[in-house]
Amino acid sequence: MKFKELSQVFTKLSSTTKRLEMTAILEDFFKKLKCEDIGFVVQLCMGKVFPANDPKELGIANNMMIETLAITGGVSVEDVKKLWKIHGDLGETAKYVIGKKKQVTLYSNDLTLDKVKENLYKIPDMTGKGSVEKKLKIVSELLSNADPEEALYLTRIVLGSMRTGVGEGVVRDALGKAFNVTSDDIEKAYNLCTDYSYVSETLCKNPKNISNIKLKLFSPIKVMLFKKVSSVKEGFEEVGKPAIIEVKYDGMRLQIHKLGNEVRMFTRNLDEVTRQFPDAVKYIKESIKANECIIEAEMVGFNPKTDKPEPFQQLSTRIKRKYDVDKLSKDLPVKIFCFDLLMLDKKSFLDDNFEERHNKLVSIIKPNPNIMIAKGIKTDSESDAEKLFTEGIKEQEGVMFKNLKAPYQAGSRVGFGVKLKSHMTELDLVITEAYYGKGKRRDWFGSFTLSCLDPDDGKYLSIGKLGTGFSDEQFEELTKKLKPLVMKENNEKVVLTPSVVVEVEYEEIQKSPTYDSGFALRFPRLIRFRNDKKPDEIATISDVEELA
Ligand code: AMP
Repeated sequence: MKFKELSQVFTKLSSTTKRLEMTAILEDFFKKLKCEDIGFVVQLCMGKVFPANDPKELGIANNMMIETLAITGGVSVEDVKKLWKIHGDLGETAKYVIGKKKQVTLYSNDLTLDKVKENLYKIPDMTGKGSVEKKLKIVSELLSNADPEEALYLTRIVLGSMRTGVGEGVVRDALGKAFNVTSDDIEKAYNLCTDYSYVSETLCKNPKNISNIKLKLFSPIKVMLFKKVSSVKEGFEEVGKPAIIEVKYDGMRLQIHKLGNEVRMFTRNLDEVTRQFPDAVKYIKESIKANECIIEAEMVGFNPKTDKPEPFQQLSTRIKRKYDVDKLSKDLPVKIFCFDLLMLDKKSFLDDNFEERHNKLVSIIKPNPNIMIAKGIKTDSESDAEKLFTEGIKEQEGVMFKNLKAPYQAGSRVGFGVKLKSHMTELDLVITEAYYGKGKRRDWFGSFTLSCLDPDDGKYLSIGKLGTGFSDEQFEELTKKLKPLVMKENNEKVVLTPSVVVEVEYEEIQKSPTYDSGFALRFPRLIRFRNDKKPDEIATISDVEELA
Protein backbone atom coordinates (compact mmCIF):
# COMPACT_ATOMS: atom_id res chain seq x y z
CA MET A 1 0.00 0.00 0.00
CA LYS A 2 1.23 3.50 -0.84
CA PHE A 3 1.72 5.82 2.11
CA LYS A 4 0.02 8.46 -0.06
CA GLU A 5 -3.36 6.75 0.46
CA LEU A 6 -2.99 7.16 4.19
CA SER A 7 -1.78 10.76 4.03
CA GLN A 8 -4.81 11.64 1.88
CA VAL A 9 -7.05 10.18 4.56
CA PHE A 10 -5.26 12.25 7.22
CA THR A 11 -5.91 15.38 5.15
CA LYS A 12 -9.59 14.49 4.86
CA LEU A 13 -9.73 13.95 8.63
CA SER A 14 -8.08 17.31 9.24
CA SER A 15 -10.75 19.06 7.19
CA THR A 16 -13.45 18.33 9.77
CA THR A 17 -13.83 18.65 13.50
CA LYS A 18 -17.03 16.62 13.56
CA ARG A 19 -16.65 13.30 15.24
CA LEU A 20 -19.26 11.55 13.11
CA GLU A 21 -17.61 12.70 9.89
CA MET A 22 -14.19 11.50 11.08
CA THR A 23 -15.70 8.16 12.04
CA ALA A 24 -17.30 7.80 8.59
CA ILE A 25 -14.02 8.64 6.81
CA LEU A 26 -12.17 6.00 8.80
CA GLU A 27 -14.95 3.43 8.49
CA ASP A 28 -14.73 3.66 4.68
CA PHE A 29 -10.97 3.45 4.75
CA PHE A 30 -10.76 0.52 7.20
CA LYS A 31 -13.17 -1.51 5.05
CA LYS A 32 -10.79 -1.27 2.09
CA LEU A 33 -7.61 -2.22 3.92
CA LYS A 34 -5.83 -5.57 3.77
CA CYS A 35 -5.59 -7.38 7.10
CA GLU A 36 -1.79 -7.17 7.03
CA ASP A 37 -1.95 -3.36 6.81
CA ILE A 38 -4.79 -2.50 9.13
CA GLY A 39 -2.90 -2.92 12.43
CA PHE A 40 -0.21 -0.38 11.61
CA VAL A 41 -2.66 2.01 9.93
CA VAL A 42 -4.87 2.02 13.03
CA GLN A 43 -1.85 2.82 15.21
CA LEU A 44 -0.82 5.70 12.94
CA CYS A 45 -4.35 7.10 12.92
CA MET A 46 -4.00 7.48 16.69
CA GLY A 47 -0.54 9.02 16.22
CA LYS A 48 1.25 6.12 17.88
CA VAL A 49 3.70 3.88 16.07
CA PHE A 50 3.65 1.10 18.69
CA PRO A 51 0.67 -0.44 20.48
CA ALA A 52 0.04 0.66 24.06
CA ASN A 53 1.25 -2.68 25.47
CA ASP A 54 4.59 -2.31 23.70
CA PRO A 55 7.11 -0.24 25.67
CA LYS A 56 9.10 0.77 22.56
CA GLU A 57 9.50 4.47 21.80
CA LEU A 58 11.03 6.45 18.94
CA GLY A 59 12.63 8.97 21.31
CA ILE A 60 12.73 11.79 18.73
CA ALA A 61 11.87 15.27 19.99
CA ASN A 62 11.46 18.62 18.25
CA ASN A 63 15.18 19.47 18.10
CA MET A 64 16.18 16.24 16.41
CA MET A 65 13.33 16.64 13.96
CA ILE A 66 14.45 20.20 13.16
CA GLU A 67 17.93 18.89 12.36
CA THR A 68 16.49 16.10 10.20
CA LEU A 69 14.41 18.61 8.26
CA ALA A 70 17.43 20.88 7.78
CA ILE A 71 19.55 18.03 6.40
CA THR A 72 16.81 16.60 4.22
CA GLY A 73 15.71 19.98 2.87
CA GLY A 74 19.25 21.32 2.38
CA VAL A 75 18.60 24.35 4.60
CA SER A 76 20.09 25.56 7.88
CA VAL A 77 18.79 24.66 11.33
CA GLU A 78 18.19 28.39 11.95
CA ASP A 79 16.02 28.58 8.83
CA VAL A 80 13.93 25.62 9.98
CA LYS A 81 13.49 27.28 13.38
CA LYS A 82 12.39 30.53 11.74
CA LEU A 83 9.92 28.64 9.54
CA TRP A 84 8.61 26.80 12.61
CA LYS A 85 7.85 30.18 14.22
CA ILE A 86 5.96 31.26 11.08
CA HIS A 87 4.02 28.02 10.57
CA GLY A 88 3.60 27.34 14.28
CA ASP A 89 3.86 23.59 13.70
CA LEU A 90 6.74 21.35 12.67
CA GLY A 91 4.53 19.23 10.38
CA GLU A 92 3.56 22.30 8.34
CA THR A 93 7.22 23.36 8.39
CA ALA A 94 8.20 19.96 6.95
CA LYS A 95 5.56 20.33 4.24
CA TYR A 96 7.03 23.70 3.26
CA VAL A 97 10.69 22.63 3.40
CA ILE A 98 10.13 19.41 1.45
CA GLY A 99 7.86 21.24 -1.02
CA LYS A 100 10.60 23.78 -1.73
CA LYS A 101 13.15 21.05 -2.24
CA LYS A 102 10.87 19.06 -4.53
CA GLN A 103 10.59 22.09 -6.82
CA VAL A 104 14.28 21.69 -7.67
CA THR A 105 14.69 17.91 -7.55
CA LEU A 106 12.84 15.03 -9.07
CA TYR A 107 10.93 12.91 -6.69
CA SER A 108 9.92 9.32 -6.97
CA ASN A 109 6.83 9.29 -4.76
CA ASP A 110 6.94 5.57 -4.20
CA LEU A 111 6.88 5.65 -0.41
CA THR A 112 5.02 2.60 0.84
CA LEU A 113 3.40 1.90 4.20
CA ASP A 114 5.75 -1.08 4.60
CA LYS A 115 8.81 1.13 4.12
CA VAL A 116 7.53 3.59 6.73
CA LYS A 117 6.95 0.72 9.14
CA GLU A 118 10.31 -0.88 8.43
CA ASN A 119 12.22 2.35 9.09
CA LEU A 120 10.25 3.44 12.15
CA TYR A 121 10.47 -0.03 13.71
CA LYS A 122 14.28 0.11 13.52
CA ILE A 123 14.49 3.29 15.59
CA PRO A 124 13.89 2.02 19.16
CA ASP A 125 16.84 -0.38 18.86
CA MET A 126 19.17 2.48 18.01
CA THR A 127 20.79 3.32 21.31
CA GLY A 128 24.18 4.44 22.54
CA LYS A 129 26.95 6.08 20.55
CA GLY A 130 26.04 7.32 17.10
CA SER A 131 22.35 6.59 17.62
CA VAL A 132 21.27 10.21 16.97
CA GLU A 133 22.93 10.19 13.54
CA LYS A 134 21.40 6.81 12.74
CA LYS A 135 17.89 7.95 13.71
CA LEU A 136 18.34 11.12 11.72
CA LYS A 137 19.36 9.15 8.64
CA ILE A 138 16.47 6.75 8.83
CA VAL A 139 13.83 9.49 9.18
CA SER A 140 15.56 11.56 6.51
CA GLU A 141 15.37 8.62 4.10
CA LEU A 142 11.58 8.59 4.52
CA LEU A 143 11.28 12.35 4.12
CA SER A 144 13.42 12.30 0.96
CA ASN A 145 10.95 9.92 -0.63
CA ALA A 146 7.91 11.81 0.61
CA ASP A 147 5.84 14.44 -1.16
CA PRO A 148 5.05 17.57 0.90
CA GLU A 149 1.76 16.22 2.26
CA GLU A 150 3.40 12.93 3.28
CA ALA A 151 6.25 14.88 4.90
CA LEU A 152 3.74 16.75 7.04
CA TYR A 153 2.25 13.53 8.44
CA LEU A 154 5.55 11.67 8.73
CA THR A 155 6.85 14.52 10.88
CA ARG A 156 3.79 14.44 13.09
CA ILE A 157 3.94 10.64 13.38
CA VAL A 158 7.59 10.76 14.39
CA LEU A 159 6.82 13.44 16.99
CA GLY A 160 3.79 11.49 18.25
CA SER A 161 1.32 14.30 17.63
CA MET A 162 -1.06 13.77 14.69
CA ARG A 163 -3.41 16.68 15.41
CA THR A 164 -6.16 15.23 13.24
CA GLY A 165 -8.48 15.11 16.24
CA VAL A 166 -8.70 11.33 16.01
CA GLY A 167 -8.36 9.54 19.32
CA GLU A 168 -9.01 6.03 20.53
CA GLY A 169 -12.76 6.69 20.64
CA VAL A 170 -13.10 7.59 16.96
CA VAL A 171 -10.92 4.64 15.90
CA ARG A 172 -12.96 2.28 18.08
CA ASP A 173 -16.29 3.51 16.64
CA ALA A 174 -15.00 3.39 13.04
CA LEU A 175 -13.72 -0.18 13.53
CA GLY A 176 -17.08 -1.13 15.01
CA LYS A 177 -18.98 0.27 12.01
CA ALA A 178 -16.53 -1.18 9.47
CA PHE A 179 -16.77 -4.71 10.90
CA ASN A 180 -20.29 -4.62 12.31
CA VAL A 181 -19.33 -5.08 15.94
CA THR A 182 -20.39 -2.85 18.85
CA SER A 183 -17.96 -0.24 20.12
CA ASP A 184 -18.41 -1.72 23.59
CA ASP A 185 -17.19 -5.14 22.45
CA ILE A 186 -14.16 -3.54 20.82
CA GLU A 187 -13.37 -1.55 23.92
CA LYS A 188 -13.67 -4.62 26.11
CA ALA A 189 -11.25 -6.54 23.89
CA TYR A 190 -8.85 -3.60 23.87
CA ASN A 191 -8.94 -3.18 27.64
CA LEU A 192 -7.80 -6.78 28.00
CA CYS A 193 -4.98 -6.84 25.44
CA THR A 194 -4.19 -3.07 25.20
CA ASP A 195 -3.23 -3.44 21.55
CA TYR A 196 -5.43 -1.80 18.90
CA SER A 197 -3.32 -3.24 16.08
CA TYR A 198 -4.09 -6.78 17.31
CA VAL A 199 -7.77 -5.93 17.86
CA SER A 200 -8.12 -4.52 14.34
CA GLU A 201 -6.28 -7.43 12.68
CA THR A 202 -8.54 -9.85 14.56
CA LEU A 203 -11.62 -7.95 13.38
CA CYS A 204 -10.37 -7.85 9.80
CA LYS A 205 -9.77 -11.63 9.72
CA ASN A 206 -13.01 -12.58 11.44
CA PRO A 207 -15.10 -10.13 13.47
CA LYS A 208 -16.54 -12.97 15.56
CA ASN A 209 -13.12 -13.67 17.03
CA ILE A 210 -13.22 -10.38 18.91
CA SER A 211 -14.82 -12.17 21.85
CA ASN A 212 -11.89 -14.61 21.94
CA ILE A 213 -9.46 -11.86 22.90
CA LYS A 214 -8.59 -12.62 26.49
CA LEU A 215 -6.39 -11.43 29.28
CA LYS A 216 -2.83 -12.55 28.51
CA LEU A 217 0.08 -13.06 30.83
CA PHE A 218 2.84 -10.44 30.34
CA SER A 219 0.54 -8.13 28.37
CA PRO A 220 -0.66 -5.41 30.75
CA ILE A 221 -4.40 -4.90 31.14
CA LYS A 222 -6.20 -1.54 31.44
CA VAL A 223 -6.89 -1.42 35.14
CA MET A 224 -10.28 -0.86 36.75
CA LEU A 225 -10.69 2.68 38.05
CA PHE A 226 -12.39 3.96 41.17
CA LYS A 227 -14.94 6.73 41.60
CA LYS A 228 -14.60 9.34 44.29
CA VAL A 229 -16.97 9.65 47.24
CA SER A 230 -17.04 12.27 49.95
CA SER A 231 -18.16 10.31 53.02
CA VAL A 232 -18.31 6.83 54.53
CA LYS A 233 -22.09 6.88 54.08
CA GLU A 234 -21.73 7.61 50.37
CA GLY A 235 -19.08 4.89 50.12
CA PHE A 236 -21.51 2.24 51.35
CA GLU A 237 -24.28 3.66 49.16
CA GLU A 238 -22.11 3.07 46.11
CA VAL A 239 -20.83 -0.43 46.83
CA GLY A 240 -23.50 -1.89 49.12
CA LYS A 241 -23.26 -3.55 52.53
CA PRO A 242 -21.28 -5.40 53.70
CA ALA A 243 -18.19 -4.26 51.81
CA ILE A 244 -14.45 -4.67 52.07
CA ILE A 245 -12.89 -1.40 53.21
CA GLU A 246 -9.14 -1.16 52.67
CA VAL A 247 -6.45 1.38 53.40
CA LYS A 248 -5.76 3.47 50.29
CA TYR A 249 -1.97 3.48 50.07
CA ASP A 250 -0.16 6.45 48.55
CA GLY A 251 2.14 4.77 46.10
CA MET A 252 2.17 3.36 42.63
CA ARG A 253 -0.32 0.91 41.23
CA LEU A 254 1.50 -2.22 40.20
CA GLN A 255 0.31 -4.98 37.92
CA ILE A 256 2.30 -8.08 38.71
CA HIS A 257 2.55 -10.82 36.06
CA LYS A 258 4.27 -14.04 37.19
CA LEU A 259 5.04 -17.33 35.49
CA GLY A 260 7.28 -19.67 37.48
CA ASN A 261 10.43 -17.72 38.14
CA GLU A 262 9.71 -14.98 35.63
CA VAL A 263 8.16 -11.80 37.00
CA ARG A 264 7.25 -8.66 35.07
CA MET A 265 5.63 -5.56 36.52
CA PHE A 266 3.66 -2.78 34.84
CA THR A 267 2.29 0.59 35.94
CA ARG A 268 -1.32 1.63 35.42
CA ASN A 269 -0.05 3.43 32.30
CA LEU A 270 1.06 0.03 30.98
CA ASP A 271 4.75 0.98 31.27
CA GLU A 272 7.04 -1.83 32.33
CA VAL A 273 9.01 -1.16 35.53
CA THR A 274 10.54 -4.60 36.21
CA ARG A 275 14.12 -3.43 35.73
CA GLN A 276 13.76 -0.51 38.15
CA PHE A 277 12.54 -2.66 41.07
CA PRO A 278 14.69 -5.79 41.54
CA ASP A 279 13.79 -5.75 45.26
CA ALA A 280 10.09 -5.99 44.44
CA VAL A 281 10.74 -8.85 42.02
CA LYS A 282 12.58 -10.69 44.81
CA TYR A 283 9.70 -10.24 47.30
CA ILE A 284 7.20 -11.44 44.70
CA LYS A 285 9.20 -14.57 43.90
CA GLU A 286 9.59 -15.36 47.61
CA SER A 287 6.02 -14.73 48.71
CA ILE A 288 3.54 -15.33 45.93
CA LYS A 289 2.75 -19.00 46.04
CA ALA A 290 1.37 -19.45 42.55
CA ASN A 291 3.00 -20.62 39.37
CA GLU A 292 1.07 -18.38 37.04
CA CYS A 293 -0.83 -15.29 38.13
CA ILE A 294 -1.70 -11.64 37.57
CA ILE A 295 -2.08 -9.61 40.75
CA GLU A 296 -2.76 -5.96 41.43
CA ALA A 297 -1.02 -4.16 44.23
CA GLU A 298 0.08 -0.74 45.44
CA MET A 299 3.83 -0.31 45.86
CA VAL A 300 4.92 2.26 48.44
CA GLY A 301 8.38 3.72 49.13
CA PHE A 302 9.58 3.71 52.75
CA ASN A 303 12.23 5.64 54.63
CA PRO A 304 14.89 3.01 55.45
CA LYS A 305 15.74 4.66 58.82
CA THR A 306 12.29 5.39 60.21
CA ASP A 307 10.30 2.74 58.28
CA LYS A 308 7.72 5.45 57.59
CA PRO A 309 6.08 5.75 54.15
CA GLU A 310 7.49 8.38 51.80
CA PRO A 311 5.26 10.39 49.46
CA PHE A 312 4.71 9.11 45.92
CA GLN A 313 7.03 11.83 44.55
CA GLN A 314 10.02 9.98 46.05
CA LEU A 315 9.02 6.71 44.50
CA SER A 316 8.71 8.35 41.11
CA THR A 317 12.47 9.02 41.17
CA ARG A 318 12.94 5.24 41.27
CA ILE A 319 10.55 4.78 38.36
CA LYS A 320 12.49 7.24 36.20
CA ARG A 321 15.95 5.87 36.95
CA LYS A 322 17.15 2.89 34.97
CA TYR A 323 20.66 2.82 36.49
CA ASP A 324 22.00 2.47 40.04
CA VAL A 325 18.85 0.54 40.84
CA ASP A 326 20.51 -1.45 43.63
CA LYS A 327 21.63 1.70 45.43
CA LEU A 328 18.18 3.23 45.02
CA SER A 329 16.52 0.15 46.44
CA LYS A 330 18.57 0.70 49.60
CA ASP A 331 17.84 4.46 49.72
CA LEU A 332 14.12 3.96 49.20
CA PRO A 333 13.03 0.38 49.90
CA VAL A 334 9.52 -0.54 48.82
CA LYS A 335 6.67 -2.52 50.30
CA ILE A 336 3.93 -4.14 48.27
CA PHE A 337 0.27 -4.17 49.34
CA CYS A 338 -1.71 -6.64 47.22
CA PHE A 339 -5.41 -5.96 46.63
CA ASP A 340 -6.76 -7.93 43.66
CA LEU A 341 -6.27 -11.12 41.68
CA LEU A 342 -6.99 -11.16 37.96
CA MET A 343 -5.60 -14.51 36.85
CA LEU A 344 -4.47 -17.69 38.55
CA ASP A 345 -3.03 -20.77 36.88
CA LYS A 346 -4.48 -20.04 33.44
CA LYS A 347 -7.95 -19.17 34.80
CA SER A 348 -9.09 -15.59 34.32
CA PHE A 349 -10.78 -14.31 37.50
CA LEU A 350 -12.17 -11.16 35.92
CA ASP A 351 -15.75 -12.43 35.97
CA ASP A 352 -15.54 -13.79 39.52
CA ASN A 353 -16.83 -11.53 42.25
CA PHE A 354 -14.43 -9.49 44.37
CA GLU A 355 -14.94 -11.54 47.49
CA GLU A 356 -13.83 -14.70 45.65
CA ARG A 357 -10.89 -12.94 44.01
CA HIS A 358 -9.87 -11.57 47.39
CA ASN A 359 -10.13 -14.97 49.13
CA LYS A 360 -7.99 -16.57 46.42
CA LEU A 361 -5.49 -13.72 46.71
CA VAL A 362 -5.20 -14.25 50.46
CA SER A 363 -4.64 -17.96 49.89
CA ILE A 364 -1.59 -17.49 47.64
CA ILE A 365 0.30 -14.77 49.50
CA LYS A 366 2.68 -15.71 52.26
CA PRO A 367 2.96 -12.29 53.89
CA ASN A 368 6.15 -10.80 55.27
CA PRO A 369 7.04 -7.17 56.18
CA ASN A 370 7.76 -6.36 52.52
CA ILE A 371 4.78 -7.87 50.78
CA MET A 372 1.31 -8.41 52.18
CA ILE A 373 -2.41 -8.09 51.59
CA ALA A 374 -3.69 -4.49 51.78
CA LYS A 375 -4.98 -3.83 55.28
CA GLY A 376 -8.76 -4.04 55.32
CA ILE A 377 -11.96 -5.19 56.96
CA LYS A 378 -15.20 -6.75 55.79
CA THR A 379 -17.93 -4.78 57.49
CA ASP A 380 -21.35 -3.17 57.26
CA SER A 381 -20.64 -0.82 60.14
CA GLU A 382 -20.16 2.86 59.38
CA SER A 383 -18.31 3.42 62.64
CA ASP A 384 -15.80 0.63 61.85
CA ALA A 385 -15.31 2.16 58.41
CA GLU A 386 -14.81 5.63 59.99
CA LYS A 387 -12.19 4.15 62.30
CA LEU A 388 -10.24 2.67 59.39
CA PHE A 389 -10.60 5.96 57.49
CA THR A 390 -9.08 7.90 60.42
CA GLU A 391 -6.24 5.38 60.49
CA GLY A 392 -5.96 5.44 56.69
CA ILE A 393 -5.48 9.20 56.44
CA LYS A 394 -2.91 9.32 59.24
CA GLU A 395 -0.12 7.68 57.26
CA GLN A 396 -1.67 7.03 53.88
CA GLU A 397 -4.29 8.63 51.61
CA GLY A 398 -7.63 7.37 52.82
CA VAL A 399 -9.70 4.23 52.23
CA MET A 400 -11.21 2.25 49.37
CA PHE A 401 -14.70 0.71 49.51
CA LYS A 402 -15.11 -2.44 47.44
CA ASN A 403 -18.27 -4.13 46.27
CA LEU A 404 -18.06 -7.79 47.30
CA LYS A 405 -20.26 -9.00 44.44
CA ALA A 406 -18.69 -7.07 41.60
CA PRO A 407 -16.57 -8.52 38.78
CA TYR A 408 -13.38 -6.81 37.57
CA GLN A 409 -14.18 -4.43 34.75
CA ALA A 410 -10.95 -3.60 32.95
CA GLY A 411 -10.45 0.02 31.98
CA SER A 412 -13.62 1.48 33.39
CA ARG A 413 -14.66 3.64 36.29
CA VAL A 414 -17.78 1.68 37.11
CA GLY A 415 -18.07 2.23 40.84
CA PHE A 416 -17.33 -1.40 41.80
CA GLY A 417 -14.84 0.28 44.07
CA VAL A 418 -14.78 3.85 45.36
CA LYS A 419 -12.16 5.99 47.05
CA LEU A 420 -12.52 8.25 50.04
CA LYS A 421 -9.63 10.63 50.51
CA SER A 422 -8.79 13.25 53.12
CA HIS A 423 -8.91 16.31 50.85
CA MET A 424 -11.91 16.33 48.60
CA THR A 425 -11.12 19.52 46.75
CA GLU A 426 -8.60 18.10 44.34
CA LEU A 427 -8.59 17.13 40.70
CA ASP A 428 -6.26 15.43 38.25
CA LEU A 429 -6.01 17.63 35.16
CA VAL A 430 -3.77 17.89 32.12
CA ILE A 431 -1.65 20.86 31.03
CA THR A 432 -2.69 22.00 27.55
CA GLU A 433 -1.05 25.42 27.23
CA ALA A 434 1.81 27.27 28.87
CA TYR A 435 2.94 30.88 29.13
CA TYR A 436 6.50 32.10 29.41
CA GLY A 437 7.29 33.78 32.72
CA LYS A 438 8.51 37.30 33.36
CA GLY A 439 11.77 38.67 34.82
CA LYS A 440 14.09 35.96 36.07
CA ARG A 441 11.64 33.35 34.88
CA ARG A 442 11.43 34.55 31.29
CA ASP A 443 13.10 31.38 29.96
CA TRP A 444 10.76 29.12 31.87
CA PHE A 445 7.08 28.56 31.57
CA GLY A 446 5.48 30.46 34.44
CA SER A 447 1.81 29.57 34.16
CA PHE A 448 -0.23 26.81 32.64
CA THR A 449 -3.72 26.20 31.29
CA LEU A 450 -5.35 23.17 32.91
CA SER A 451 -7.95 21.08 31.15
CA CYS A 452 -10.35 18.28 31.94
CA LEU A 453 -11.50 15.60 29.52
CA ASP A 454 -14.66 15.24 27.49
CA PRO A 455 -14.50 11.45 27.03
CA ASP A 456 -17.24 11.43 24.40
CA ASP A 457 -15.14 13.09 21.77
CA GLY A 458 -11.69 12.87 23.34
CA LYS A 459 -11.37 16.67 23.61
CA TYR A 460 -9.66 18.53 26.44
CA LEU A 461 -11.60 21.45 27.85
CA SER A 462 -9.83 24.25 29.67
CA ILE A 463 -10.87 24.91 33.27
CA GLY A 464 -8.31 27.23 34.79
CA LYS A 465 -4.81 28.60 34.97
CA LEU A 466 -2.15 27.32 37.34
CA GLY A 467 0.85 29.38 38.40
CA THR A 468 1.25 28.75 42.10
CA GLY A 469 2.42 25.92 44.27
CA PHE A 470 5.69 25.44 42.34
CA SER A 471 9.23 25.69 43.60
CA ASP A 472 11.87 27.13 41.21
CA GLU A 473 13.09 23.56 40.62
CA GLN A 474 9.58 22.49 39.70
CA PHE A 475 9.16 25.37 37.23
CA GLU A 476 12.44 24.33 35.62
CA GLU A 477 11.54 20.63 35.61
CA LEU A 478 8.14 21.33 34.14
CA THR A 479 9.58 23.57 31.42
CA LYS A 480 11.96 20.75 30.44
CA LYS A 481 9.08 18.28 30.37
CA LEU A 482 6.80 20.54 28.33
CA LYS A 483 9.23 21.89 25.73
CA PRO A 484 9.19 18.72 23.60
CA LEU A 485 5.39 18.81 23.66
CA VAL A 486 5.07 22.26 22.08
CA MET A 487 2.80 22.08 19.05
CA LYS A 488 2.32 25.79 18.40
CA GLU A 489 4.05 28.96 19.59
CA ASN A 490 2.31 32.29 19.69
CA ASN A 491 4.49 34.93 21.36
CA GLU A 492 4.46 34.15 25.06
CA LYS A 493 1.86 31.39 24.77
CA VAL A 494 2.45 27.83 23.57
CA VAL A 495 -0.08 25.11 22.78
CA LEU A 496 0.96 21.69 24.03
CA THR A 497 0.23 18.05 23.26
CA PRO A 498 -1.82 17.03 26.32
CA SER A 499 0.51 14.73 28.24
CA VAL A 500 1.57 16.08 31.64
CA VAL A 501 -1.00 15.32 34.34
CA VAL A 502 -1.05 17.29 37.58
CA GLU A 503 -3.04 16.93 40.76
CA VAL A 504 -4.31 20.31 41.92
CA GLU A 505 -6.31 21.52 44.83
CA TYR A 506 -8.65 24.50 44.60
CA GLU A 507 -11.04 26.49 46.72
CA GLU A 508 -14.12 26.32 44.59
CA ILE A 509 -15.46 25.52 41.14
CA GLN A 510 -17.48 28.31 39.57
CA LYS A 511 -19.42 28.64 36.33
CA SER A 512 -17.38 30.72 33.90
CA PRO A 513 -17.57 31.67 30.23
CA THR A 514 -13.76 32.20 30.15
CA TYR A 515 -12.89 28.53 29.74
CA ASP A 516 -14.03 25.88 27.25
CA SER A 517 -15.44 23.68 30.01
CA GLY A 518 -17.81 26.43 31.15
CA PHE A 519 -16.23 26.23 34.64
CA ALA A 520 -13.28 27.88 36.36
CA LEU A 521 -11.23 26.70 39.33
CA ARG A 522 -10.75 29.34 42.00
CA PHE A 523 -7.17 29.46 43.32
CA PRO A 524 -5.82 26.20 41.94
CA ARG A 525 -2.51 25.06 43.49
CA LEU A 526 -0.22 22.25 42.46
CA ILE A 527 -0.22 19.27 44.81
CA ARG A 528 1.98 16.99 42.72
CA PHE A 529 2.81 15.73 39.26
CA ARG A 530 0.90 12.57 38.40
CA ASN A 531 3.54 10.82 36.28
CA ASP A 532 1.56 7.62 36.82
CA LYS A 533 -1.54 8.93 35.05
CA LYS A 534 -2.23 9.39 31.35
CA PRO A 535 -4.39 12.25 30.04
CA ASP A 536 -7.30 9.88 29.37
CA GLU A 537 -7.49 9.12 33.10
CA ILE A 538 -7.96 12.69 34.32
CA ALA A 539 -11.14 14.27 35.67
CA THR A 540 -13.92 14.33 33.12
CA ILE A 541 -16.29 17.21 32.44
CA SER A 542 -19.02 15.26 34.23
CA ASP A 543 -16.78 14.86 37.32
CA VAL A 544 -16.37 18.65 37.26
CA GLU A 545 -20.10 19.24 36.82
CA GLU A 546 -20.81 16.91 39.74
CA LEU A 547 -18.26 18.63 41.99
CA ALA A 548 -19.56 22.07 40.98
P1 AMP B 1 -6.46 7.83 42.51
O1 AMP B 1 -5.05 7.62 42.08
O2 AMP B 1 -6.64 8.95 43.44
O3 AMP B 1 -7.40 7.85 41.31
O4 AMP B 1 -6.91 6.53 43.37
C1 AMP B 1 -6.95 5.24 42.87
C2 AMP B 1 -5.62 4.55 43.12
O5 AMP B 1 -5.42 4.21 44.48
C3 AMP B 1 -5.50 3.20 42.44
O6 AMP B 1 -5.20 3.34 41.09
C4 AMP B 1 -4.38 2.54 43.21
O7 AMP B 1 -3.14 2.88 42.64
C5 AMP B 1 -4.41 3.22 44.57
N1 AMP B 1 -4.67 2.33 45.73
C6 AMP B 1 -4.07 2.42 46.92
N2 AMP B 1 -4.51 1.51 47.78
C7 AMP B 1 -5.43 0.77 47.11
C8 AMP B 1 -6.26 -0.33 47.47
N3 AMP B 1 -6.26 -0.86 48.69
N4 AMP B 1 -7.11 -0.82 46.53
C9 AMP B 1 -7.16 -0.26 45.30
N5 AMP B 1 -6.40 0.77 44.90
C10 AMP B 1 -5.54 1.30 45.80
